[in-house]
Amino acid sequence: MRIDFVTLFPSLFAGWQSAGIVGRAVEKGALETGFVNPRDFTKDKHRKVDDRPYGGGAGMVMMAEPLRAAIKSAAKKGAHVVYLSPQGKSFDQAAARRLAKHKRLVLVCGRYEGIDERAMDLFDEEISIGDYVLTGGELPAMVVAEAVARLLPGVLKKEDAAVAESFTENKLDFPQYTRPPVWRSKRVPEILFSGDHKKIADWRDKQSWLATKRKRPDLLDNNSARALEHKHRR
Ligand code: SAM
Repeated sequence: MRIDFVTLFPSLFAGWQSAGIVGRAVEKGALETGFVNPRDFTKDKHRKVDDRPYGGGAGMVMMAEPLRAAIKSAAKKGAHVVYLSPQGKSFDQAAARRLAKHKRLVLVCGRYEGIDERAMDLFDEEISIGDYVLTGGELPAMVVAEAVARLLPGVLKKEDAAVAESFTENKLDFPQYTRPPVWRSKRVPEILFSGDHKKIADWRDKQSWLATKRKRPDLLDNNSARALEHKHRR
């Protein structure tokens, strides 16, 4: 997959795309990234990308034309163009799975008070990473790109495969433990040393349900909650 970021601050992505799982995805070529700066599409000597809002008020607004030209240059045939915006639909794992099916994504990062409303039809959709306002769309774009990159074939190693992670089946992940076996008097549950894969899988399944019930009951609709209650009641 290729993801192009339309951003006034491409340098913000350098650390993110060179470390950890995203770094590995880029290195292996599973994820290709590109950066397009609207400032490179200005025609005046000050390379102006923003201006004062009509009607008055605080702050500046991103001008439509440099943004249009940047998106046009980034969005090759078939690209799905997303504007990161606090006014968009809330991002979740289902949206990550949906976006991961595209061959090309263009993630457009706003700045200032946002963008000229007349540019809105340049986007296929608007996505928000939560009900709060950040200074720019770069962190939201990294959040979306990273959630998508983890789902691409060959990005996660077998042992950290995404299939068992939280939200995959509308439930949270099971609790994890590592060495030492006893830490400050707290023991790792005995079953994890049993070597019985079936019993461990059943125990994890139950813990996953208990964690969801305790921390995020909203994820369990009535039917699945009843079915799981029945399955795990022992
Ligand atoms: N005035 C805008 C509003 O209230 O809807 C907020 C503009 S915000 C200061 C600047 C940019 O940050 C936005 O254009 C958007 O790209 C990005 N941004 C801020 N919060 C975001 C969020 N929760 N999700 C996605 N993008 C966000």
